[in-house]
Amino acid sequence: MHTRVVVLGAGFGGLELTTILSDAFGDALDLVLIDKGDAFVFGFSKLDVMFGRITPAEARHPYRDLVKPGVRLLQSTVRSIDPASRRVETDAGTFDADILVVALGADMDPAATPGLVEGGHEFYSVAGAEALRDVLPRFERGAAIVGVTSKTFKCPPAPSETALLLHDYLTARGRRQATDISVVMPFGIPIPPSPETSSAILAAFAERGIRYVKDTLVRSLDTARKVAVLSDGREMPYELFLGVPVHRVPAVIEASGLAVDGWIPVNKKTLETRFPGVYAVGDVTSVGTAKAGVFSEGAARVVAAGLIAQLRGGPPPEPYAGRGSCYVEFGHHQVGRVDVDFLSGPKPTGIFEAPSEALVAEKALFGASRLQRWFGPHAARQL
Ligand SMILES: Cc1cc2nc3c(=O)[nH]c(=O)nc-3n(C[C@H](O)[C@H](O)[C@H](O)COP(=O)(O)OP(=O)(O)OC[C@H]3O[C@@H](n4cnc5c(N)ncnc54)[C@H](O)[C@@H]3O)c2cc1C
Repeated sequence: MHTRVVVLGAGFGGLELTTILSDAFGDALDLVLIDKGDAFVFGFSKLDVMFGRITPAEARHPYRDLVKPGVRLLQSTVRSIDPASRRVETDAGTFDADILVVALGADMDPAATPGLVEGGHEFYSVAGAEALRDVLPRFERGAAIVGVTSKTFKCPPAPSETALLLHDYLTARGRRQATDISVVMPFGIPIPPSPETSSAILAAFAERGIRYVKDTLVRSLDTARKVAVLSDGREMPYELFLGVPVHRVPAVIEASGLAVDGWIPVNKKTLETRFPGVYAVGDVTSVGTAKAGVFSEGAARVVAAGLIAQLRGGPPPEPYAGRGSCYVEFGHHQVGRVDVDFLSGPKPTGIFEAPSEALVAEKALFGASRLQRWFGPHAARQL
């Protein structure tokens, strides 16, 4: 009988893992990839959708395009996971795994911040980004706040990118003089592992008159008075609030007993959980990297290499190093890059590559190369 591999979640981590295992084993593997959605969307595409740079349809890469030897792709919701027996219940039936990989990402909980649903907007979900396409054109004057509501959130550069892109958007529409932009962040500097990248972002903010409010969170919105209440008690008036909602593990993970203190702990070198044969990669873990697609992908590569070694009897792979490059939109049609290493040294480090048009092209290639690898050449041409 073939080894039964069940992968939960077809995001950055699940797609990368599935692709490598299919390339390595083809039909000799029994792999089921389960996702409740019908399409993959890059995190960064949410910014493109929100600012009208692409349409929502252009951001979606349908899973029906994913055809790989040995892989069954199932669109269904995972309802329960028993990590001890490696049994998964879905709306489409029960699956027993020899190897179970959990890559279900982080869920958003806008309702956890009082006032956010009623009086603000979030741009971290596809639906939120789509809704903002209609909201931004109506923002003509007053204060805009890009505000983070929990210490753990995906893609730490995204709030800064949003502020810089909002500056360009308002400038192009002749509304920048009538508006203010602030960013409320839980960190002292925008990208803590990279002081150099942070200085460049803060310099870009200073040049454009964007205010950086450090070391604080937005706790609630008082929608009657239109003020954001910060974790240190300060209040900031807003006309437009663009929020990064509270992040948490999907409810099915909470109920499974896999999470400890909010996220799934894993062996930092192998990504195995404390349950034998159960691995977790990406945003759903507390592995110690930032929550970003490149790190989910890197973790998936280590799990794949470990499984290939295990099934073929080779030496174990290099341990996970938590390395990855994040592209940072600086506005003015330029993109910068930070190459971060979270786990291989005594503390995280990040090397900065200054914004340029060349990096705009490199970021596009980053996306296209993933689509080509995961879905085939046809999908890459759609980006
Ligand atoms: C605005 C923004 C900008 C970003 N920019 C970047 C960037 O430039 N670079 C970068 O690397 N990262 C970026 N990110 C972060 C990136 O999108 C995520 O970190 C990445 O997608 C995480 O990958 P993952 O595989 O861990 O989870 P995900 O990609 O989130 O995949 C999880 C999958 O699990 C599925 N799922 C969840 N629960 C269930 C269930 N119960 N049953 C079935 N399926 C389920 C979901 O449908 C989803 O497809 C950005 C994010 C945002 C919001």
